[in-house]
Amino acid sequence: MDKIILKPGREKSLLRHHPWVFSGAIDRLEGSPAPGETVNILSSQGEYLARAAYSPSSQIRARAWTFDDEPVDRDFLKRRIQTAIQSRNSYSKRAESDAYRLIHAESDGLPGLIVDRYMDTLVIQFLSAGPEFWREPVTDLLLELTGLENIYERSDADVRELEGLPTRRGWLRGDGPETCIIQENSLKFKVDLAAGHKTGFYFDQRLNRAQVRGLAKDRDVLDCFCYTGGFSLNALAGGAKSVLSVDSSTDALTLCSENATLNGFPADRHNLLEGDVFQVLRKFRDEARSFDLIVLDPPKFAPTVSQAERAARGYKDINLLGFKLLRAGGLLVTFSCSGGIDPALFQSIIASAALDAGSQAQIVEHLFQSADHPVALNFPEGAYLKGLVCLKT
Ligand code: SAH
Repeated sequence: MDKIILKPGREKSLLRHHPWVFSGAIDRLEGSPAPGETVNILSSQGEYLARAAYSPSSQIRARAWTFDDEPVDRDFLKRRIQTAIQSRNSYSKRAESDAYRLIHAESDGLPGLIVDRYMDTLVIQFLSAGPEFWREPVTDLLLELTGLENIYERSDADVRELEGLPTRRGWLRGDGPETCIIQENSLKFKVDLAAGHKTGFYFDQRLNRAQVRGLAKDRDVLDCFCYTGGFSLNALAGGAKSVLSVDSSTDALTLCSENATLNGFPADRHNLLEGDVFQVLRKFRDEARSFDLIVLDPPKFAPTVSQAERAARGYKDINLLGFKLLRAGGLLVTFSCSGGIDPALFQSIIASAALDAGSQAQIVEHLFQSADHPVALNFPEGAYLKGLVCLKT
């Protein structure tokens, strides 16, 4: 088998079972592996460290499949997929939703592989060279192990470019409609599997949406970055006095509106506004508008640590405006899904935002991603979503 030999002293993270091997840690490659092919990773002393998928185009030059001396083959992939399925079954979220994340990449020991289940349809993303190499057996195994027939491929995420992989989208096995209606916490959501964000829906916010439902009663709610209405509909279900859903995407707002109708919410309690949240919040501040509950769930401003500073300014900006628009006794439910912003940094950004807004506030809840997005202890980057509920006193 081809080998990657690390520079002296660069084996530490692999010894702690962190799966990523950066190009800068590599002394030399012996052999000429194809993209995604399995290579052995050795320390500068020649000690075996891991067996990994080779990614020639990426800064993350290899992603470890295993740290044991075992073959990486169909049986190996079968065991990993089985374990992921069992973990979802034993820590079941089925009662809350008929749609959930089945495989969460590195956190399930399957770097670069995302699989979401929408009732009887799987939606898959091959995000790096490793799973791309094993595409056919992985697809067959998923169908075999779930007993399902339909898999839709959404390998159209930007990260594929970093891997030098082309964009791919469409039915991989079976076929059917490209939209479906899922249930989450007894609310219905129409999902566009072909054109929606990620694989169509943000399952990671499931618990936090339920939390907002419990906080919304009799409040005027502003849901910023509403997408298809995850938080908005829960606020309506929780008895909000009014809900205003803001997003810059026309398609997202169309679905948000359809979803409100699908659940029978009266239009007089729900308004939608298309616009850039940064500008909308400024305009509302100038108009002295106010709300009792504001949700801020922006897209990823900082995918990596290097973009953290610019991202921090973005988070501070919207949160500062959020505090200003909040009435006394109001709640700010604020999130960051940026891997580059850790929870301590996020909390300090929110603290600066409150200070500069002239607001006194306390954290009353810490929020996190739902359990179908587990975090492997050897891969802390898996904990990407953090949120705070702040009470303005
Ligand atoms: N809260 C949503 C998920 C939000 S995803 C849920 O629970 O499902 C982020 C959303 O932000 C996307 O819908 C995207 O269209 C929107 N968005 C991105 N940048 C924006 C901006 N500057 N202003 C308004 N919306 C924006």
